[in-house]
Amino acid sequence: MSRIFAALIISVLFASCAYAGGIEAITLIDIRGEGDTSLLVNASESQKAEYYPGEKMPSQILAFWVNGVLYDVGLQDGQVISRLAENGISPESVRTILITHLHHDHFGGLLDSDGKTAFPNAEVYMSKPEYDYWVNKVRNKSVIAALKLYTVRQFVYGDEVVPGVRAIDTSGHTPGHASYLVEADGEKLIVAGDIMHFPEIQIPHPEVAVRYDEDRVKAVQSRKFLLDYAASKNIPIAGMHITPPGIIQVTKSGEGYVKH
Ligand SMILES: [Zn+2]
Repeated sequence: MSRIFAALIISVLFASCAYAGGIEAITLIDIRGEGDTSLLVNASESQKAEYYPGEKMPSQILAFWVNGVLYDVGLQDGQVISRLAENGISPESVRTILITHLHHDHFGGLLDSDGKTAFPNAEVYMSKPEYDYWVNKVRNKSVIAALKLYTVRQFVYGDEVVPGVRAIDTSGHTPGHASYLVEADGEKLIVAGDIMHFPEIQIPHPEVAVRYDEDRVKAVQSRKFLLDYAASKNIPIAGMHITPPGIIQVTKSGEGYVKH
């Protein structure tokens, strides 16, 4: 898989379209690669061929640094710490990590390559249903090993998790998947997590799911809800699997949406 060793300062990129405001978002590229269209569910062969004529889909894992808060941490042995360093942010200075859900490409980077704490001064936040599912129900060993090294704080949907950041219920991809609405000085950004994996097809056709959605029906409902919310309120979406820089705006178009 190819890797791109660049983090993008979104506030600079978007300065010309008045997006600099109260939110500074830095896209942290962990890894880029490809997925196969066999990962898609609810997509016809003709739809797959239309959006991915080569049967390969671009894929990427991103994390975001928004106003001093880290959203997800990518893979263990990934590039998020290097990307933070390129922006002058040390692991020790990271105090708050908001996790969208407990899949390995989102929490793995809590551990360094030796299995030690990658962010020694950070508190880690996730939704209560997400924690309950992975830690208490399925007892996932990797999740438990990572979380036991941290002070873990759980929230319920609707909570103001940290000042200016509210948790949104986008469960479905995992039982406690959360997105975050960030507000600062009248600016807003949704850090969406895995509300979509392959935006080329899932924005125009939000009914298309992926094999690793735990509850595909609910995942589709959550995607439609969040896209509708973002479109109606004109709020940018930062997504962990959206093509870098990973921040888009959407508008409604027919049964689906288009991105800008
Ligand atoms: Zn993911």
